Amino acid sequence: MKEAFIDIRKQLEKKLKKDRFEHTIGVMYTAASLAMRYHEDIDDAMMAGLLHDCGKYGSAQEQVERCQKHGIPLTQSELEMPALVHAKLGAYFAEKEYGVTNKGVLSAITWHTTGRPEMTMLEKIIYIADYIEPNRKIIPGLQEIRETVFVDIDHAICLCAGNTVNYLRKNGKPVDPMSIETYQYYSDKGE
Ligand code: FE
Ligand code: FE
Repeated sequence: MKEAFIDIRKQLEKKLKKDRFEHTIGVMYTAASLAMRYHEDIDDAMMAGLLHDCGKYGSAQEQVERCQKHGIPLTQSELEMPALVHAKLGAYFAEKEYGVTNKGVLSAITWHTTGRPEMTMLEKIIYIADYIEPNRKIIPGLQEIRETVFVDIDHAICLCAGNTVNYLRKNGKPVDPMSIETYQYYSDKGE
């Protein structure tokens, strides 16, 4: 493994909970496989995978406070759904603390939780890798997404976004408008 990765990996191992760290490594290698399949830069995919959850430590409230401290603007829905905050915070840390300058990597971290319409290939890869990495517990639909993503990544995004929105609705949880937009866009695209 390259020097730059080893160093960041060590820092994350100290910072993140054990399960979160294992998930991170799973996302990193899953992103690498998808980069191979879709002709993306493998190092960029691994770096984005490695750092995608680097903002996800401490309580939700602490994450919100960290954003305020660093002047990271949050939307109303991010304040209502603090589970989303770590994505923006992670992109900030990736740049300021881990020295990432590649804008594509930073935006893949920013959009990994909700996705967005018209994602770049790297954004799609991290969004999906986060969902399908090997340590994820099996939930309905996961097997289909794992198979589909290697055939048709846009269709896999549609399935993934659809699952996320349905799961949140079924459990009476608020859904970020951007997640709905992602689902809408990729479901229309498949028609
Ligand atoms: Fe995340
Ligand atoms: Fe994650």
